Amino acid sequence: MIQLIRGFKDILPAEVALWQHIERTAVALFAAFGFDEIRVPIMEKTELFARGIGEDTDIVEKEMYTLEDRGGERLTLRPEATASIVRAYIQHKLYADDPLRKLYTIGPMFRRERPQKGRYRQFYQIDVEAFGMAGPYIDAQMIHMLHLFFQRLGVSRSLAHLNSLGCPVCRPRFREALSGLLAQVEEKLCADCRRRQARNPLRVLDCKVPTCREAVADAPAIVDYLCDDCRQHFNSVTESLARLGVPFELNKRLVRGLDYYTRTTFEIQTDLLGAQSAVAGGGRYDGLVETLGGPATPAIGFAVGFDRLVEILGQRLKVEAPKPALFIAALGEKARREAFYWCAALAAAGIYVEMEHGDKSLKAQMKRADRLGAARVLIVGEAELASGKANLRDMATKAQSEIALDGVAEKLEQTLKP
Ligand code: ATP
Ligand code: MG
Repeated sequence: MIQLIRGFKDILPAEVALWQHIERTAVALFAAFGFDEIRVPIMEKTELFARGIGEDTDIVEKEMYTLEDRGGERLTLRPEATASIVRAYIQHKLYADDPLRKLYTIGPMFRRERPQKGRYRQFYQIDVEAFGMAGPYIDAQMIHMLHLFFQRLGVSRSLAHLNSLGCPVCRPRFREALSGLLAQVEEKLCADCRRRQARNPLRVLDCKVPTCREAVADAPAIVDYLCDDCRQHFNSVTESLARLGVPFELNKRLVRGLDYYTRTTFEIQTDLLGAQSAVAGGGRYDGLVETLGGPATPAIGFAVGFDRLVEILGQRLKVEAPKPALFIAALGEKARREAFYWCAALAAAGIYVEMEHGDKSLKAQMKRADRLGAARVLIVGEAELASGKANLRDMATKAQSEIALDGVAEKLEQTLKP
């Protein structure tokens, strides 16, 4: 039997209710904050991710699913959505009417990582981006929105970790100080870090290898190197968060693995996930739109790890699958035929009705109605068809009421309308 690809997974019907609940919660919340949905393709030219994410990141160096199509073009399954949304923003001149755009998208991402709990090769992200706002309020708003999102879902044990990465004015000074330290601890670093350290020393702070973490434990903090503008910006963000009642913690070690991030960077962590503690991450990327050929545009975004959120909530939130408003227990071919058309009329009217399609006993049908959690059962056999009347049973109270079969679909529609 052919199995699915390693690191990929099926989301089975029993789990989908939870996925939909999360999605609906996100959509309603984002709409209230003025975010519009955008849908971008799953594949892009490889070059977009190479330039947009940065050549010496884990993602571009070793995680991308890249293929050459029959025309010889190099294409990549998107490892994240930001680069694609930025491309769309530029390509369709979404800035023309109003450079302020707030966008989100929800969908699958692909990274060839080592599969484990909370880490898949196809995983889902809820991705949110805001363009054209340089000031600190949008940073605070995004983190606030993320906090509300987790609250509404009932994820209580989560905390926003916060840092500032500075800007092209102040980062070089920090980079120099960091390089100084890295030179001293070089032999303790993993091969990747040793190689990257010269070109992108900040990446070393992001390395997950324990010996690397240890080696940079005493690394200088970026926040001590911020220029006045970056410092003021960061202070305003933290002040706003405090006033909005969003719990956060400064984390001087927090850097993003992606090169285009500037200033505010954040991650939502929870102790409910074990090793993969980050359930969302994001930050400001003021340089990316211009890097990808658009007009200089400040921007900020975040991505929620949908699968990890499902893992947290799966343990605590039971989202019920919809239950039929009615089960028609039909006995005999003639009754089944009638029932089939009644079901069709009721479904068209938006009412979920189930029936049995095989020749099953009344007992078996009642059992199935019970298992499905049907609110009512209509029992129809030869006798009922002959008399033109049938019994409608309320499964909770066991009360029975008689209903005439002439025009029964319309009558049921009135009775069962939610
Ligand atoms: P991590 O440190 O866990 O590797 P990351 O820095 O690569 O995360 P981002 O690129 O910022 O993650 O993606 C945002 C979120 O997407 C993460 O916080 C995480 O919840 C989720 N995520 C990232 N990679 C995976 C994956 N392979 N499987 C499932 N979820 C993932
Ligand atoms: Mg990663």
